[in-house]
Amino acid sequence: MKLYNSASHKKEGFIPHEPGKVTMYTCGPTVYHFAHIGNLRSYLMEDVLEKFLRYDGYDVKRIMNITDVGHLASDADTGEDKMVKGAKREHKSVMEIAQFYTDAFFADCKKLNIKYPDVVQPATGMIDDYIKVITKLLDTGYAYVAGGNVYFDTSKLEKYYVFNDHDEEDLAVGVREGVEEDLNKRNKNDFVLWFTKSKFEDQALKWDSPWGVGYPGWHIECSCISMKYAGEYLDIHCGGIDNAFPHHTNEIAQSEAYLGHPWCKYWMHVHHLNTNDGKMSKSKGEFLTVSLLEEKGYDPLVYRFFCLQSHYRKSLVFSWENLDNAKVAYDKLVARVAALSDDPAPVDEEAAAKYKAAFIEAVGNDLNTSLGVTALYDVLKADTSDATKRALIDSFDQVLGLDLLKKAAAQREKAAAPVEGAEEIEALIAKRLEAKKAKDWATADAIRDQLKEMGVEIKDSKEGTTWTRV
Ligand code: AMP
Ligand code: ZN
Repeated sequence: MKLYNSASHKKEGFIPHEPGKVTMYTCGPTVYHFAHIGNLRSYLMEDVLEKFLRYDGYDVKRIMNITDVGHLASDADTGEDKMVKGAKREHKSVMEIAQFYTDAFFADCKKLNIKYPDVVQPATGMIDDYIKVITKLLDTGYAYVAGGNVYFDTSKLEKYYVFNDHDEEDLAVGVREGVEEDLNKRNKNDFVLWFTKSKFEDQALKWDSPWGVGYPGWHIECSCISMKYAGEYLDIHCGGIDNAFPHHTNEIAQSEAYLGHPWCKYWMHVHHLNTNDGKMSKSKGEFLTVSLLEEKGYDPLVYRFFCLQSHYRKSLVFSWENLDNAKVAYDKLVARVAALSDDPAPVDEEAAAKYKAAFIEAVGNDLNTSLGVTALYDVLKADTSDATKRALIDSFDQVLGLDLLKKAAAQREKAAAPVEGAEEIEALIAKRLEAKKAKDWATADAIRDQLKEMGVEIKDSKEGTTWTRV
């Protein structure tokens, strides 16, 4: 496949370190609150990448961390620790908060058909590894102790900004307005590997270390977790675009300084989901969650379909209107699949191979999911047997994850099942028709209201009156 690599700023042919195998690392959630649907856009597109690689024949190992410690409230290492803030808000311990929101995160993922990773590692379970790596970084001169903390010395690197070619000053922490500079740092981009002198009075989780009781910086967890489960060479590292700097930049700095050779070859960054009034944020109070979509009557897979219709390297604007359009299109798609016959005719392998090749070409080109969806419509339009179409839909859905055959089967079952109370409804409709014929509008309207109260909506047309449950 071809994949855009943020590290080279180019679309590249994908060649894993070990033929046939892919190691894939994903920065996991910070579990102090529910994930918003923006976070989930990132995981969802990464899931499509994982599924596509499997579809393409690779043996994939996907690794994810859970940030349950050490995530500071801003890049500038200021503010309040997010985990402590969450615990205070809900009068729970930090570990209770972490467990609750980790479970909630994976429940949301399940609803969106995002596969559970092969490895899930909470950051708190890796303290010995952080200490081992930090010790070596100190021994080799890549790190220094100042003011009680251990810092990574970015001046020791030949190239620090891997992802950003543009104005380095724009990105530099400490020069932003209102950000208090950490005077312990030798260089403005140096970052903390281990804190003992926290800015947060009430940091809840602390461990003993050669540098005193404290806790790890945020970036070290991903380097160590990745190295533990993927070894010294990682194939693909994923995350939202906001993670490119400073998080991924710092991950590369410390991993390569530790290993002494290049570490991760491909970097995949998903651009943001925004609302009309700007960026989505968990700290802004009310925010968009999968549960909110469900409360408003949307199937979470409608949101998955919505995401698939646009490219992961473009920001995407969320609005209820956009989601409604996706819902209409998704429902129509399911209805078209449901209309396919159970034709037992054998699958036309030649035609199937042709359509599969088109699908692989589309999605394999830097994950062009909207073209992948188009390939699905092409199958529905194709001049081939319904058995072939069903087989292809089943096949493409291994990557798209839209549950099309399952939803279509449910729809057919529902349509075939006798509707409870149908007789009573039909009788009322007949009574209303009589009333209308007799120009007894009051009775006709009263019956309409009665049906409405029963949750039944009626529609009059030339062909007669039809009804639906609402
Ligand atoms: P967090 O839980 O804040 O660490 O974020 C989890 C993931 O969501 C990270 O990969 C972020 O880069 C990503 N992310 C954060 N905000 C958005 C957004 N609005 N749209 C897409 N991805 C996001
Ligand atoms: Zn990370």
